[in-house]
Amino acid sequence: MAPLTDMYCEELKRALYGRLRFLRELGISEIYRREVDPIQWAQPNIAANVTVNASPSLEQFGRAPDHPSQHLFEENAIAPRKPFPAPPAQPEALPPEQHFAALKLIQEEIGDCTRCGLSQTRNKIVFGDGDSNAKLMFVGEGPGADEDASGLPFVGRGGQLLNNMINAMGLKREQVYIANVVKCRPPGNRTPEPDEANTCSPFLFKQIDVVRPQVLVALGQTAVTYLTGEKRPMSGWRGSVHPLRGTKLIVTYHPAYLLRDPTQKRAAWQDLQLAMRELGLKPAGKE
Ligand code: SF4
Repeated sequence: MAPLTDMYCEELKRALYGRLRFLRELGISEIYRREVDPIQWAQPNIAANVTVNASPSLEQFGRAPDHPSQHLFEENAIAPRKPFPAPPAQPEALPPEQHFAALKLIQEEIGDCTRCGLSQTRNKIVFGDGDSNAKLMFVGEGPGADEDASGLPFVGRGGQLLNNMINAMGLKREQVYIANVVKCRPPGNRTPEPDEANTCSPFLFKQIDVVRPQVLVALGQTAVTYLTGEKRPMSGWRGSVHPLRGTKLIVTYHPAYLLRDPTQKRAAWQDLQLAMRELGLKPAGKE
């Protein structure tokens, strides 16, 4: 077998990173390696070109690293999760007429934030948007390029799809509140790193505590993971109502994922129908 060159290794790592991100959006968070012929891996010209990462991430999965291929799969592809910090204590609910001003105060507290590394590459902080007294709130992962340019959440193609989903629920976008786990765009739209998400998410919790929606819809696995502090496959979240900070949490796919795999729109609509039942809504056009 020909030796693995550095360039090939880099390409392989990039391809694996893309595949792992895709699998994570599908709700698959535990990856198991396929058995590899140990004689093949014992060849020095292969082992010498594989970067071995001494990351302890495998221990987090309850298994000791026992093979170089495990390191190859985990190296920098998906950062090891740190323990989730406890969310801030929930304050008393504010009267509805104070919600707007309270959100402004949170925005002022964020200011020209440099609390995490995402500040170095962002253009605009994307705070959130919508009705400060909304009954329904959506939480996404983080801003993309269009959002980074405009300072508003969900304004790109994913935003158009989200608008259509909201309209299908019989609502207008202005009637809901929308925010993200991180308020600055991760470079290349990558998934936020745990330290970035954990640094920024207290602001999201404050927004939730001010708006106090009846129903909170988490868009994708990153959103639900940082909202709940719990990692589960999407199949472990979808189809049920989960209590969270006095609201009813419902989980569905991220619009960006639905754009990549439109066959999942039917499943997403089922999730939104669950939200509609909780809100006592009927689909658009039906009285
Ligand atoms: S992502 Fe959040 S914590 Fe990080 S710089 Fe932006 S606003 Fe601050």
